Parts: sequence; structure tokens; C-alpha cells
Amino acid sequence: MESKNIYIQGIVQGVGFRPFVYQKAHQFHLKGFVANTSKGVWISIDGTSDNIQAFIQMIQNDMPEHARIYSIREENTHPTGKNDFSIIDSNQSNNRLASIPPDIATCKNCLTEMNDPDNHRYQYPFINCTHCGPRFTITNDLPFDRSNTSMASFQLCDVCSLEYSNPMDRRFHAQAVACPVCGPSLELVCNNKVIQSANPLEIAIQLLKKGKILAIKGLGGFHLAVDACNDTAVLRLRKLKNRPDKPFAIMSSTIETIQQFALMDDIEINSLTSYQCPIVILKQKHPNALSQSISNPKNIGVMLPCTPLHHLLTNQFLALVMTSGNISEQPIISTNQKSLEILDYADAHLLHNRSIVNPCDDSVVRVIANKPRLIRRSRGYIPAPIDLKKNLPSVLSLGGHLKNTICLANNHHAYLSQYLGDLSNMDTIQWMQQTIDQMIRITGIQPECVACDMHPEYQSSKMAETMSLPINRVQHHHAHIASCLAENGIVAPVIGIVLDGTGYGIDQTIWGGEVLFCENHSFKRIAHLETVLMPGGESAIKFPWKMALSWIVNGFGDNAIDIFNSIQQKIDSDSIKMVKQAIDKQIHSPLTSSIGRLFDAVSSMIIGQVSISYEGQAAIDLENIACDTDHHYQYYFTGKDMTMIHVQPMIREIVTDILSNVKPEMISGKFHTTLIHLFTDLCHHLQSTIDLKHIVLSGGVFQNERLFSGLRRKLMENGFRVSVHSQVPCNDGGLSLGQAYLTNRA
Ligand code: ZN
Ligand code: ZN
Ligand code: FE
Repeated sequence: MESKNIYIQGIVQGVGFRPFVYQKAHQFHLKGFVANTSKGVWISIDGTSDNIQAFIQMIQNDMPEHARIYSIREENTHPTGKNDFSIIDSNQSNNRLASIPPDIATCKNCLTEMNDPDNHRYQYPFINCTHCGPRFTITNDLPFDRSNTSMASFQLCDVCSLEYSNPMDRRFHAQAVACPVCGPSLELVCNNKVIQSANPLEIAIQLLKKGKILAIKGLGGFHLAVDACNDTAVLRLRKLKNRPDKPFAIMSSTIETIQQFALMDDIEINSLTSYQCPIVILKQKHPNALSQSISNPKNIGVMLPCTPLHHLLTNQFLALVMTSGNISEQPIISTNQKSLEILDYADAHLLHNRSIVNPCDDSVVRVIANKPRLIRRSRGYIPAPIDLKKNLPSVLSLGGHLKNTICLANNHHAYLSQYLGDLSNMDTIQWMQQTIDQMIRITGIQPECVACDMHPEYQSSKMAETMSLPINRVQHHHAHIASCLAENGIVAPVIGIVLDGTGYGIDQTIWGGEVLFCENHSFKRIAHLETVLMPGGESAIKFPWKMALSWIVNGFGDNAIDIFNSIQQKIDSDSIKMVKQAIDKQIHSPLTSSIGRLFDAVSSMIIGQVSISYEGQAAIDLENIACDTDHHYQYYFTGKDMTMIHVQPMIREIVTDILSNVKPEMISGKFHTTLIHLFTDLCHHLQSTIDLKHIVLSGGVFQNERLFSGLRRKLMENGFRVSVHSQVPCNDGGLSLGQAYLTNRA
């Protein structure tokens, strides 16, 4: 006879781990108990040595689908003195490691029950079990027990209670277990009046069928929904939400329904059906029955239903538009009251009485080069950590300014927060502050230092200064590369290519087309795009024609205005004159080496955009029209220690092509091919000074599928080793991870 304590850390709570341990303990005739602790799971057992060893093996090899073990430690102990094996109440502890699982999409068993007219939970919108349902979004604190979630206020009925306490039931210790008798319920509010009905869901569906706009409380927050086939409804939503162009995501009930309007390969189907249930960017099939006002004709963001409620709603439609319920760039709305106040233009609000504790936007995935790549890492992925190859101190990093996330890390784990968004508004800043507190509580990581961007005006940088901790200020593009190193477990020196929008450079110019030699915690800028002026500073981002003019002035000097007028007729001469003056006199026009801004300029030259209404729009438009071509434009490099990339020849050729009526599709294709050739050539060129074959790609511009997969492939064909993002966004959503990764022990 032997007695052992076994301590397991990882995602082991809320995923059916204790019931699994219970069943295995019985199988091996072990006595003792299992308990959740704030650190993870604690098992104490008596049994024969062989059985105990077999049991420990089985636990690691056979664990529940959504569980993840980070560490397992065993020690000899005194006999428990128990006559059986049981699950005992969780105890509190001060030392904790986040073990709250991410939210899990409705499982097959629950769906079967929900669709069975004889089942107690027939059509119940909150059905869940040990293997699925809300987790992170409803949890206040560790351990993951009902009393620490927003289910605490729902008293279990006899039926649920029996299931909860029966080790052989599939709801054994399912913390969010609920049924129509004891669990959350729906409520429909129209014109500030609660609609009295036994079936508010049915009325909601009827309203959607009539083309109405509904605010719907989901898992991580509210969506605004309309019938995706109703063009009038979609356009009305665009108008009321003040979102003229940015694509809407849609939700469709099954892979078969999605097949009616989109193309999918197996990897995309796997992403759609994964338990994280993200939005996946797919290629549209044409013709299709969807409103053409949802997205651009090429792509569409689609997700499957992530909760029973969404299953019940979507199975009546080909698809529903499901866009975040928020005011543009502000945090997603997560309370009934705010929905009624702020989304007051919705025709009805479908509410429920289970509160959302940790709001989370939908995550976004795009499959590029045969792998799912996260563009927005939020619901379904948070708070699962990124595993690191390097030991970090306890550090809090505050990210960038747009697409903000924060990160808490120590030892080998980095916990990124959900997507928080744009720190230009007070509500997001407040949400960020709450998230920092919440993440500290659930990870138990007390930061001993803080990391932020070098930009002195970023809200996140200013916040770092108020924290009375040592500050590590990290250059924006260095952080981009480091985030890619972190998720790939790279510690060796690399050459990093960062193609980005804008980030604060160490020479007071705005960087964004950078090649960095990165070693240990430092970097050296070894090449960059030649700089041009960004007339009006930030305003040039909103008005891409200003960047077009800047590049044309740079290339054509005195003829610039004539050339500009010959390719862009939508801008009045006074505005052109004013911007030209700002460029000539360098008034309020910082220098930039940004590739994102080069995309804006080229897009505006070819397509003629005057202004954009969402980040990256000009670049996305440019990518969407690009045809396949091997032809490219000219460029050259100068300099030795610092290589300068000159694309002036390309700009001149583009202007020539436009004036000789070459198709925009071809010009865009040639532009993309040029960048792919250029950066591959550059990597060869740099080998004369730095003999290093390992290239890392990062920065928001790599959301461009053609550039990302084209450059990656070309570099590999040329004998380079290439590391890229998959788990963490290449855009500014990954900055916090990079900042943490570059922070040393104080
Ligand atoms: Zn389930
Ligand atoms: Zn019940
Ligand atoms: Fe960036």
C-alpha cells in the first residue's frame, strides 16, 4: 500500500477533470479524494504502487478533451484513511495559477438533448454540461466553482442538483449547469417594455424575419443582429451603427449552410468547428443569397453558433449578421442596461439574466499558408496562456494604443487579456484598468515590473508611469518581432522584417517598414524603407490621398501636382495646394518609413480612395483587387551599415501604368509581387554583413494574405528559415506579449 499527493496545474477546472479523475480512481481501486485548489487540482490517494502509477499515466494520456496539463507533481504522504474515493469541496489558497478554462462552444450531446422534444431541456437556450458552456466570461475568481461565477445566484433545482452530484452523469460538477426550472431565462424588450410571452425567442425570430434589428446578449457581450439576406435591414444597420464600410461578421447554423455562400477547406472547417468557435475569414461563393452590403465581394467573416441560444436563433436563417454591439471603437456592451441605453436604435433587445463578468469580443481567424492565424484573440482563447521557452519575471505589459491587449507573464507562461481595443476613448481605458486587476486576481501574478511602448503619448505608456514599478519601454517593432519569437519559442538571433502601420521609432520618425537584427533583448535597425513626409500627421491615415501626394512629390518634384491631378480627380485644388504646402514647408508632417502608409498611397493612386472609415481599409481594398502576376516594379538599395530601401522607381512605374490604362488589378498584383521580390532580395543583400538565415515576419501589414504567404514562400524557396505568427496576432494585438518577452528580471 502506498499514499501519494498529486498536484496538477493547467486547464484542469471546468473541463470535467475531477469527474474524470473520480472515474479513473474507481477503475484502479484507489481510495482518497480530488479537489480543485486555486493552483489547479489536488489528488490524494491510497492504493497499490502499480495501480497508482497506472492511474497517473492514465490521467496524462486520457484526459478530457479541453483539459491541458502544464505540470504534474507527486509526493509521498500519509494514508488518507478514506474508505472510498470522493470529490471534496474546493479550498482557497493564495498561490494560484490561472486555471479557468476559456468558454467552450456547445457540445454535440447538449445539442442532441436540446433538439429532443422529450428532453427536460428541450430548446433551452442555456443548456450546457461538464464539456461545454460558459467559463471565463462568467467567472469572477478562482477556483472555477459555481460560487465564483455569475451562476451563483441561480439555485440548483432537484433535477440539476442530482445530475451535479452524480459521478456517472455528464453534468457531474458542471459548474454552469442549468435547466428551464432553475437556470437563466430570456426576456424580450421592445420600446422599453418587456414583451409578455411564454416564448420570447420565437417573437425575436419573427422580428428578425421581418427585417428588424435586434440587440442580442451573447456569451461575451451583445451583438447587433439582422437577417443577412435582407439588404434593406443590413443597410439600415450600417446607417444606425454609423459603420459605412467595415465588413460585418455573420453567423450561420451549420457547415452545410455556410457552404451555400462560402468556400472552405478542411483547415477552415476545423477552425469553424473548434470549441473556440471564432469568426473565420472565408472566400465568398458567387452568386449567393446574402446581402452584398455585408462585406466585400471577395471575403466574408463567418462563425458557427457558439451557444445554444445562437443555435436556436440561426437555424431559422441562412445567416444572421452578428456584429459587436458597441459604439464604433468603444468596448463591447455587456450589460442589459447599457444595451437598452446605448443600442437604443435596435428594434428589440433579447436579454437574459446571467451576467457577463469578463466581456469578450468574438475572436477572428484567417487560414493562411495552411494554418489558422489569429487576427483577434479573444472569446474562446482567453485566459489560456501562451507557453514560453524562456523564464520571465513577473511582468505586466500594457501593449500599444490600437487593438490593445495587456499581458501578465511569469516563468514559462504569458496570459494575454481579451481584445480591449482603441485606447483613444475613456471607456476602453477604464476597461483596461479593470482587466489588469482581474487578470492579476485570476493569474495570481503580482507584477514586479511593467513594460510598455516607447511612444510617450500612448495612454498605455502614461498608465505605466503611474504604477510605481520599474518600467521597460520597448520599441514598437521590436515588440512585434518579440511576440513572434515568444509564440514560436525562439531565443536565437534573427532578422526581423516588420511591415506595419505606424509605430514610434527611436529617431523620432514614424517607423513601419523595418528590418531589425534582434539578439537577446536588444535590436539593431539594419534596413528600412526610405522616408517620406506624412502630411498632417495622423490625418494622413484617414485620408490616404495625402500619402499618395506625398509619394508623388517625393518622386516627381515640381511636376507633382500635375501628375497627381492626372491620376486623382476627386480632390479639389485648394486641398491639394494646402497639403502640398505642408509637404514643402514640412509643417506638421513627420517623416515615416511605414509600409502601411505606402499601401495607403498606392491604393489611393490606383483605386482613388479619398478617405477611409476603418483601420487598414485602403490596404484591404488593394489586396482584394490584386490579380496573380509574376511581373514586378523596380527598386534599389543603398547604404552599408543601414540599408535604405528605395521604391521611387516603383512609384514612377505605377504612375506610368495608371496613365497608360493598365488595369488596377494588374497594378495591384505587380505592387504585391514587388514587395515579395524586394524583401527576398534584401535578405540576400543583408547576408554580406549579417550571416543569418533565420527570418521572422511580423507587423499588421502581414494580415495581407498575398504578401504574407508570398513572401514566406519565396524566402523559404531561397533557403531561408522563416518564422511567422499563428497563436498571436501579427498586428498590435500581439504587442503586449512581445513587450513581456523582452523584459528581464529587475
Ligand atoms: Zn455539453
Ligand atoms: Zn435545474
Ligand atoms: Fe504595430
